[in-house]
Amino acid sequence: MTVHVAGPYKAQGSDPGLDRQRPAADVSVPILMWHKVDDRAPSQFWVTATQFARQMAALKAYGYTPIVLGTLYDYVTGQGIVLPSKPVVLSFDDGYQNLYTHALPILQQYAFPAVAFIPTGKIGTTDRQDNAWDAPEAPYKAAHLLWSEIEAMAATGLVDFQSHTVTHPDLEAAGINVVWELAQAKHDLAAHVHQAVDFFSYPCGLGADSAAVQHQVRQAGYKAAVAGWGELEPLADANVWALKRTEVASWHDTVYDGDPSHCFMRLLDPAFPIPHITVSSVTCLDPTTGEACTQVRGGDSVLVRVTATNTGDAAVVGVSLAFVPDADPSARFSESHALAPAGKVERLFAASSTASFEFLWSVLADARFGRFQLRVAFHDQYDVLKWHETGWQLLAGRAGGAGQRHLKSCTLGNRKPDPQRHGNLREEH
Ligand SMILES: [Zn+2]
Repeated sequence: MTVHVAGPYKAQGSDPGLDRQRPAADVSVPILMWHKVDDRAPSQFWVTATQFARQMAALKAYGYTPIVLGTLYDYVTGQGIVLPSKPVVLSFDDGYQNLYTHALPILQQYAFPAVAFIPTGKIGTTDRQDNAWDAPEAPYKAAHLLWSEIEAMAATGLVDFQSHTVTHPDLEAAGINVVWELAQAKHDLAAHVHQAVDFFSYPCGLGADSAAVQHQVRQAGYKAAVAGWGELEPLADANVWALKRTEVASWHDTVYDGDPSHCFMRLLDPAFPIPHITVSSVTCLDPTTGEACTQVRGGDSVLVRVTATNTGDAAVVGVSLAFVPDADPSARFSESHALAPAGKVERLFAASSTASFEFLWSVLADARFGRFQLRVAFHDQYDVLKWHETGWQLLAGRAGGAGQRHLKSCTLGNRKPDPQRHGNLREEH
């Protein structure tokens, strides 16, 4: 029988000072949990390196400060810690090789500390073991770390290694030597990384809601433990033997895909604003007369007006326009074709409103158009979150008039977005 232990952590012992310094009722610190950071994502446990890099960029841009679990523990237990602005804990379970090869370089780029919970019996000295417990992922076996890699990561000072048992068992299953799993993992880690092994992560979260298992974790000399599940909770309500974590799953991205629950930033702040933008038109106008422009020539100026509606939250958005040649979608013409102001307009886009964003396009005298599109992208003010990319037009090139060397004229027309290419665009940012 499992007993759910709810309610606030009670400071042990008789020091009344601990209770006086308990966290305020409205303070929460997200503890994010990743498993695998690699380029393939066959299940929810994987995020790609590109996704992870965007997530870290978003944390940085929005002013979050990753802290180590020890700091959070000291705060929760009322030891006079002052937390930084927007604290967050970054945690990784299971000790996969991709923590070293894929996640670490990105953590180093931002100098973000993280905690890694290691099943020590899966770590080799020269041989790598495969993950055996995510059975549906059998075709995508993930290799575990070597001790040398763990030691190298510990030496960076950025990764704190903590316990995830030895064999990653269900701690509530019959026949499991829980005492040995807890003690041996602590011993293994201390021997290799020379760090205090104070924290524990329940394999698959099993046992985190059992008072009996929590008691064994405490008896083994740990200070606190994290659950494998949960949502953002006020720290005043936190149980240090099952601190709740928020899983970052494969669908959590900084790029808005139309489902607010997939928004990475919502894991940190449930009220994070998400505008939902639909482009209704992209039109080209003569900047002098304001009339529709159906042909352009080199040397012309064209007013490009993007009209869009926001049916989501109010947010400061940047709108950018780029010219993308069909022949080479990775190239952009926006610089050479002199969009003003600098190809980007930024403003508050109110909820339930329609707005127009205007760009002045100075067509180069010797422009060589070919076929290309006008791409509209909406993004946040830090240029890390992409809400929407749409608005396509085709300019079909043909020869200019007689005697106009180097000049070409193009017919402006609408066409539907290419869904395949549109999907690929998201990977560019
Ligand atoms: Zn695990």
